[in-house]
Amino acid sequence: MTSPSRSFTADRIESRGPAAGDVIAQIEATRPTRVSEILAEARRAQTEWAEIPLRIRCKFVRCLGEVIYRRRAELAELVSREVGKPIVESQFADLVVTLESGRYLTRIAGPELAPRRVPHSNPAVRAKSGWLLHEPYGVIGIIAPWNFPLAIPMAQIIPAVLAGNGVVLKPSPFSAGVGAAIGTLFSEAGFPPKLVQVVQGGGEVGSALIDARPDKMIFTGSVETGRKVAEACARLLIPCVLELGGKDAMIVLADADLDVASSAAVWAAFSNCGQACVSAERVYAERSIAVEFAALCAEKAARLRLGSGRDANIEIGPMIQPTQIERVEEQLRDAVARGAQIITGGRRRADAGPGFFEPTVITGVNHTMRVMREETFGPVLAIQEVASAEEAVRLANDSEFGLAASVWTANSARGRVIAAQLRAGAVMVNDVASYFGIAEAPHGGRGWSGWGKTHSRIGLLEMVQVKYVDVDRLPRWPKPWWYGYSAALSAAADSFIAWMYAPTWLERWRNVRGALGAVFRRGRV
Ligand code: NAD
Repeated sequence: MTSPSRSFTADRIESRGPAAGDVIAQIEATRPTRVSEILAEARRAQTEWAEIPLRIRCKFVRCLGEVIYRRRAELAELVSREVGKPIVESQFADLVVTLESGRYLTRIAGPELAPRRVPHSNPAVRAKSGWLLHEPYGVIGIIAPWNFPLAIPMAQIIPAVLAGNGVVLKPSPFSAGVGAAIGTLFSEAGFPPKLVQVVQGGGEVGSALIDARPDKMIFTGSVETGRKVAEACARLLIPCVLELGGKDAMIVLADADLDVASSAAVWAAFSNCGQACVSAERVYAERSIAVEFAALCAEKAARLRLGSGRDANIEIGPMIQPTQIERVEEQLRDAVARGAQIITGGRRRADAGPGFFEPTVITGVNHTMRVMREETFGPVLAIQEVASAEEAVRLANDSEFGLAASVWTANSARGRVIAAQLRAGAVMVNDVASYFGIAEAPHGGRGWSGWGKTHSRIGLLEMVQVKYVDVDRLPRWPKPWWYGYSAALSAAADSFIAWMYAPTWLERWRNVRGALGAVFRRGRV
């Protein structure tokens, strides 16, 4: 497979920046036949790692945080050069999300992963003491996309290793250089060799990783690849988390601050050149403010500066590959043919470079158009007028996707009510997308946006298997439900059921004696 900005063969990945086409990294591709051996090495390292006390594992992760902090400028620059995003976005999205994930998870891992007492409410089992243990899975396979090449895998690897797992990461071949850098971060932080391994290549290496039978898979990427990953995991009965595409809706009510909401809309639609799973792709604006809101968005979009992400003043970088631009153009052509109007943008910007496309605002859209139904994953903000908040909610929910959404209103209470009505994994009121950087906030979608969660304590718990351990405090007492069945035991069982579950206290009370017959029964085997 080749593209003007990237090439990779069975042996080698040549990573080139999408803005200037300069070579970022020459990386040796992993032969798919090597992957199971690499996974076995990670498994060996993991067995020792899991024996290390959690507080020591936390120290390793803090040390990792220090390494990342020291190398932050180099890492931000590498991300920007390799995937083309503005340096400020590499800092805020990739670095902050990574550092915050380590900071937060090392704080909560102790209490979250400690054995937890399970009190029993049923008197028949009061003599038992129950515990929940959180055990690592073993080796977690992580397949990552290119668009947040540091933040996404790191916010998954950190909880995985904290919980005592080993990891085999397969980054996207479009961000192979950042993937290789991730490997070096763990070795510099002193993690045991082979505990966190990076395999490099395209889909064939990804599918070899699943075939090597990791104990769990965390996949982040497109719906199309997600289906293949889910099928491969199902065949081998490997549990998986799927973080897939989005078509996030933004609802702008008439009472919203339009200046703030329009700034938010252009940022959420165009940052990373619209190539974010939580990009705002569909806006539903109430009729009385829709025209003014669209005009503000268009005016702000037209002012954004295009160029190489390495220049700190640049706001819009290039798209990752030409096929992505073609997808955007096809959706725009389809929308215009069905009556939509492009009010700003809509063209390639060859003067800036081959991967550049203008930030585009389009109005007069409706749900017959592909731009409102398919993930665009490019710099397009589509604005549809609606008659009411109810219509906005109905349209927002009329989607196969369900990743995130936002509601804009001066009335936060009303915003919360609407948030509850939206079918999405996360809804922000008067902000957009930034929950991805809140370490306490779970991330994960519904429908075609996937299943399972990353980030937050819930994402940490995805990395452990819960084991229930039960210790009997009366080990010399045979249990009433064991063999030696008889009519008397059946009658006693019925009394027990009535004592526990009868709707009236009188009926319950009447059955106490009979129920005790089950406890102190004769004729056990
Ligand atoms: P992609 O699906 O093309 O690739 C994702 C990863 O899967 C890459 O590492 C790729 O090499 C690998 N892969 C490809 N074929 C495979 C196969 N058959 N088996 C196993 N692995 C395979 O996605 P992308 O272009 O890298 O990323 C963009 C997509 O990811 C968008 O749809 C975006 O919305 C989504 N995304 C979702 C989230 C989220 O958290 N929900 C975050 C970022 C991106």
